[in-house]
Amino acid sequence: MFFKMYIMDYSKLKFETRQIHAGLDHTPATGARGIAIYPTAAYRFRDCEHAARLFELSEGGNIYTRLQNPTTSAYEERVAALYGGAGALAVASGMSAILIAVTALASAGDNIVALPFLYGGTYNQFRHSLKRLGIEVRIADSDSPEQIKSLIDSRTRLLFAESMGNPTCAVADLETLSLIAKDAQIPFVVDNTFGAAGYLCNPFDWGANIVVDSATKWINGHGTAMGGIIVDGGNFDWSCGKYPEINGPSAGYHGLNFHEAFGKAAFIVKCRVDGLRDFGPCPSPFDSYLMMIGLETLSLRVRHEVEATRKLAEWLQSHPKVKKVSYVGFDNHPSHLLAKKYFRFGGSAILNVELEGTLDSTIKFVESLKLAAHMTMIGDSITVVTHPASTTHKQLSEADLKAAGVTPTLLRISLGLEDPDDIIDDFKQAFVHVG
Ligand SMILES: *Cc1c(COP(=O)(O)O)cnc(C)c1O
Repeated sequence: MFFKMYIMDYSKLKFETRQIHAGLDHTPATGARGIAIYPTAAYRFRDCEHAARLFELSEGGNIYTRLQNPTTSAYEERVAALYGGAGALAVASGMSAILIAVTALASAGDNIVALPFLYGGTYNQFRHSLKRLGIEVRIADSDSPEQIKSLIDSRTRLLFAESMGNPTCAVADLETLSLIAKDAQIPFVVDNTFGAAGYLCNPFDWGANIVVDSATKWINGHGTAMGGIIVDGGNFDWSCGKYPEINGPSAGYHGLNFHEAFGKAAFIVKCRVDGLRDFGPCPSPFDSYLMMIGLETLSLRVRHEVEATRKLAEWLQSHPKVKKVSYVGFDNHPSHLLAKKYFRFGGSAILNVELEGTLDSTIKFVESLKLAAHMTMIGDSITVVTHPASTTHKQLSEADLKAAGVTPTLLRISLGLEDPDDIIDDFKQAFVHVG
């Protein structure tokens, strides 16, 4: 079922309609409105010939839940439809989505080029773990097109960026970057976690070729499951000679050529039948179900969160105990214009704020919050406050903290679905506690 064509042409429907209807074709003939959860590890074969055809990929169908599951297929179809992609592959986390996408394209001896504004987990995967696999990651010092071009050579296999970087909210110039990648005949891979499954930003509209997304965040939207998803734009020409694993005889499949067999979906099929088969981070069907339910309200949640973020940002800006508010929707943010170009509402549901005071007074503030949750998480229905200096960045020296832009009084806030006035009241009482 993983390379079946969509029954319906979702491209004619609006995002809000797609987020509810896409993937429902998988509903079995029971008339059930809800999507079924299939808690199964394996699937019965009709006979040995059927099994053989499934294994050699000449027929699509379920074999084993590490490779595919009907609940997960419905969820993948929904996300592919939201992005307008050729296909999607759900995996167990955002980090495994990045790992599978990168290793499908780059092998030992190859390199990849990345923008500097990266999520901490991605930075570690790139700098340390990929290096141990023999894949060199060239992280640019800035987003200067000249510098990025100068890092690309004949062994470069992809260009990587976050559409909006976590946590600084630096926005990637997607149009410029996709032209650079196109010139170099390499795919442009975008971590679009902050783009909320295409609702705030759809990198394929700007020429990106592959999207990875931490579904743990806005796709799930309620902090109830981990997940990641890879989406294939179906718009890269694999016949350029650099990707023999995709357009050449595949050693793992008796010489099968993915590009010839699966056309536009070659990359995503390869990620499934090699990446997921061999590395194994498959999602649980129950978690795929939670992602499906989360997606049904995605646009409503994100719109509320962006509005609430702006309201809190405005309130904080005029507060005497606040030193600096960094919000991409304000025109003093370095990425304000790029956000206006690439993100719906020109905003995001994340803001950073530096308080007046010291490390100790900031810790006291965080510990005095009653509604906002003190965690490391974003895109949850509960408002989350993170204090990098005492958590994610605690191991760093003072100099490294400075370089990362993390000061002792910096907080990252991810607005949830509460009434923002209650969150403002919560902040008010916490400021009183700090004195
Ligand atoms: C959270 C996050 C990830 C990692 O996703 P997990 O689901 O936590 O593995 C990757 N990229 C970005 C931008 C993130 O915010």
